[in-house]
Amino acid sequence: MKANKVARTFCVESGKHFRLKDCDPAATGHWRSKDHAAEALQQGIARTAELQDKLYAQNNWALLLIFQAMDAAGKDGIIKHVMSGVNPQGCQVFSFKAPSELELQHDFLWRTTRCLPERGHIGIFNRSYYEEVLVVRVHPEILKSQRTPPSLVGKNVWEERYEDIRSFERHMARSGTVIRKFFLHVSKKEQKRRFLARLEEPEKNWKFSAADIRERAHWDDYQTAYEEMISNTATEYAPWYVVPADNKWFTRLVVSTVVVETLESLDLAYPKVDDAKRKELEAAKKILISKK
Ligand code: ATP
Ligand code: MG
Repeated sequence: MKANKVARTFCVESGKHFRLKDCDPAATGHWRSKDHAAEALQQGIARTAELQDKLYAQNNWALLLIFQAMDAAGKDGIIKHVMSGVNPQGCQVFSFKAPSELELQHDFLWRTTRCLPERGHIGIFNRSYYEEVLVVRVHPEILKSQRTPPSLVGKNVWEERYEDIRSFERHMARSGTVIRKFFLHVSKKEQKRRFLARLEEPEKNWKFSAADIRERAHWDDYQTAYEEMISNTATEYAPWYVVPADNKWFTRLVVSTVVVETLESLDLAYPKVDDAKRKELEAAKKILISKK
């Protein structure tokens, strides 16, 4: 099975029949092991770098990659890995934590909108406006603490947020920002194993946060919120990829393949040199050659 077929397996473009329980966090397609996938992974990284160079030179499209996941699913590692070959000049990563006072003074799309990638760039969101239908949904008291006029926060608040997100993403897609969204789907068992590793291995201690254990207690509510989120915001123009995350090497392979495929689907090319520019280049060459 080719890597791109694997990527398609995990793509959700319509939420109609989507059920999270149908997705296996431990799946690895036809890949047997990390070693087996190593070459495909290396190729993906090299190809991403080539394509990014064209994306940057052409300066028409922007690519936005959104990562959402439960704690310890591997967001940081994925971002580090997938971007390991790209030119930092054309790529920016933003992490979104609990909103600041200033951010709460604005609508829920404001803070992320300011961080959208410019044309020619790849933007990565480590968490995003999707937290507004995840953590805020699991903890409704957060919704109360937001400063939206109470008369505007009715029982349809989640449907309204999904609708606003869909419209926003369609607008971005129409303007040339290609959006790909990744839910790194880790199992509860694997999360426990990774948390224990953070507690037991000194070099991983810094990654541990007591808040992670508190959120783990809401596991089922989060799974429901993720399922609803994906069902309501998976579209052709901004699909979700539900990526198995129990094996980090496989998560990396899938994400990297999606990034390559997405860039390959664009009409990327270095800008054409017109006659005037060609003359300018030739004249410059003559000067360089004729002088010391
Ligand atoms: P890591 O743990 O790997 O450093 P992280 O993304 O988990 O990365 P944390 O500082 O642990 O970062 O957690 C950020 C917290 O901020 C998460 O619990 C997340 O749900 C919360 N958060 C993000 N956006 C919002 C929001 N809009 N409203 C409320 N909480 C939010
Ligand atoms: Mg965390």
